[in-house]
Amino acid sequence: MAALVAQIAENLAQVRGRIAEAAARSGRSADEITLLAVTKYVGTAEVRALVAAGCSLLGENRPQELWEKAEALSELPVRWHLVGHLQRNKVRRTLPLVEMIESVDGPRLVAAIDRIAGELSRRLPILLEVNVSGEPAKHGFEPAALEASLEELAGWGNVEIRGLMCMAGLEGGPEAARGDFARLRHLWGRLRGRCPAGIVLDELSMGMSSDYEVAIEEGATIVRIGSALFRGVL
Ligand SMILES: *Cc1c(COP(=O)(O)O)cnc(C)c1O
Repeated sequence: MAALVAQIAENLAQVRGRIAEAAARSGRSADEITLLAVTKYVGTAEVRALVAAGCSLLGENRPQELWEKAEALSELPVRWHLVGHLQRNKVRRTLPLVEMIESVDGPRLVAAIDRIAGELSRRLPILLEVNVSGEPAKHGFEPAALEASLEELAGWGNVEIRGLMCMAGLEGGPEAARGDFARLRHLWGRLRGRCPAGIVLDELSMGMSSDYEVAIEEGATIVRIGSALFRGVL
């Protein structure tokens, strides 16, 4: 356990250092950027080591995996975000476990979350996932459709739309990802400019292990990092 914690602590320090450098390069403060650790590649021993190393904001991309880890680690002071596709029939089981759902990818899911959050007397922070790369296999709102329906989405009382999220296209590496991130930031800016009263779109979740520095340069407020935190232990 000690060696595992030491390795993960070193990885975490390196990632935090690179976040701070990318922030400085773009005239931002590192405090503006939240590190979400995606734990999908590892088991509970590695997650415990990560928490011991000082990172307690965790994400999973599969609801079932999140349920299992959240239960296994329920005594730890951790917070969970779901970052992958959520089927509507899994909303009820997922909601009580999460602080935020970052991957809300369509209006019917917004409606389902609103209904169940209401039943549980919660108001759930969510991000809307946008398919900026236009790849047909990707989940998410199409940008123009989102611009057209923001007011309607904002009308649901038990969800709190806090911002946007995207996955960059698979091809082309970090510099191609930059174009996707810039598109998401521009869309975010336009939506913020005409946001219905009561919505504060303050979060922009973009960037993973291979491209988080570029994402920060393009304005990310949340970076979702998995493999870079678990280098040497996978
Ligand atoms: C796996 C995953 C990540 C992290 O991926 P890495 O490349 O390992 O950092 C981020 N976001 C989502 C939605 C993921 O599924």
